[in-house]
Amino acid sequence: MAENLNLFTSTQEVIHEALNKLGYDEAMYELLKEPIRMLTVRIPVKMDDGTTKVFTGYRAQHNDAVGPTKGGVRFHPMVTEEEMKALSMWMTLKAGIVDLPYGGGKGGVVCDPREMSMGELERLSRGYVRATKSVVGPTKDIPAPDVFTNAQIMAWMMDEYSQMDDFNSPGFITGKPIVLGGSQGRDRATAEGVTIVIGEAAKKRNIDIKGARVVIQGFGNAGSFLAKFMSDLGAKVIGISDAHGALHDPNGLDIDYLLDRRDSFGTVTTLFENTISNTELLELDCDILVPAAIENQITADNAHKIKANIVVEAANGPTTAEATKILTERGILLVPDVLASAGGVTVSYFEWVQNNQGYYWTEEEVREKLYAKMIAAFDNIYTTAQNRNIDMRLAAYMVGVRRTAEASRFRGWV
Ligand code: NAD
Repeated sequence: MAENLNLFTSTQEVIHEALNKLGYDEAMYELLKEPIRMLTVRIPVKMDDGTTKVFTGYRAQHNDAVGPTKGGVRFHPMVTEEEMKALSMWMTLKAGIVDLPYGGGKGGVVCDPREMSMGELERLSRGYVRATKSVVGPTKDIPAPDVFTNAQIMAWMMDEYSQMDDFNSPGFITGKPIVLGGSQGRDRATAEGVTIVIGEAAKKRNIDIKGARVVIQGFGNAGSFLAKFMSDLGAKVIGISDAHGALHDPNGLDIDYLLDRRDSFGTVTTLFENTISNTELLELDCDILVPAAIENQITADNAHKIKANIVVEAANGPTTAEATKILTERGILLVPDVLASAGGVTVSYFEWVQNNQGYYWTEEEVREKLYAKMIAAFDNIYTTAQNRNIDMRLAAYMVGVRRTAEASRFRGWV
């Protein structure tokens, strides 16, 4: 039978298994197998050439039993309703794993920001907020940046919401510029969280980060910050890649140089001649492999060729269920996406807390709090996996879904 590469149904399967292991019945799975709310909107935007283009947008809210839903808004041509559903479910899991008082949400607009002017992007961002106004808000559902959206887009969205409400609402959205209530450390939070869990996983495998050979797939926001952090810690980053190919140097790449040369979409390999393919990159002999680009990269086809001791999923969904099984059987420690990339939502939560209290923390305070959350989450999931003799993904889903299930039961929903 062909391997399941569908992120939505494979997420449902692991949630089902996690709820079974936690002792919940089918009614709980019926509630949690997809979002409780899914809004589809059509957003008319005046384009620079005078025409009007109508864009399709979504907002998915998985479950709000614990608290308001939270999750990014992506602007991408491949956005689909099903993808929004899966991503909102992952946000519930991430919030549960790092113990934030949120449920999961996710939004998106089918568009290609690489082909839009700043004016068109601003009108689309404001249009998205007007179209979704009835379901979002600082105590209902709090958006954030995601693929191809950034602090400027968050600023326009926050301004639109505040204008409609007639008062300043910084807590409506996170990932804002610092002057508009953004948090210190938000832009690097995902990579910082990945760095923390890599450190914890390396301890379990007696690997010294200093001198460890690291391979990172993807050199965008997550991958490039991570490459910098790892090389600053003394690791040897021997491979990196982007959508066009990969670079490999067994003696370690010059990350500062590559960061300097990369463009705003995370492309750098096109400047070099001696490149290897992304497939070859994943199979390099290394200590730590970090897929930080796109989904379905480690599958049943290549899982037995992975030579890393530890695989840390910075990207969402880079390893299929079958590949997870193969890696675990081969003794490779797999740190799943819902844990590894939870640093972003954690600092987004810190931003919202600071907005609500109107008092702001230093970068050091944010970092300390992020460390505490990520290390507690890693320990909890690692111990669950060991005690129950299950893989880290199933353990992460069990930890992640438990609180939402309990809150739903206390509220009398199931
Ligand atoms: P990005 O768009 O900034 O960068 C993506 C990188 O992947 C680029 O270098 C791009 O060239 C590369 N890439 C694209 N297609 C590829 C392919 N087919 N093969 C190899 N490389 C390819 O994105 P990002 O924000 O760095 O996100 C990367 C992953 O991490 C995504 O799965 C995202 O959902 C996840 N993630 C990111 C954050 C965050 O805060 N940035 C948070 C949580 C999860």
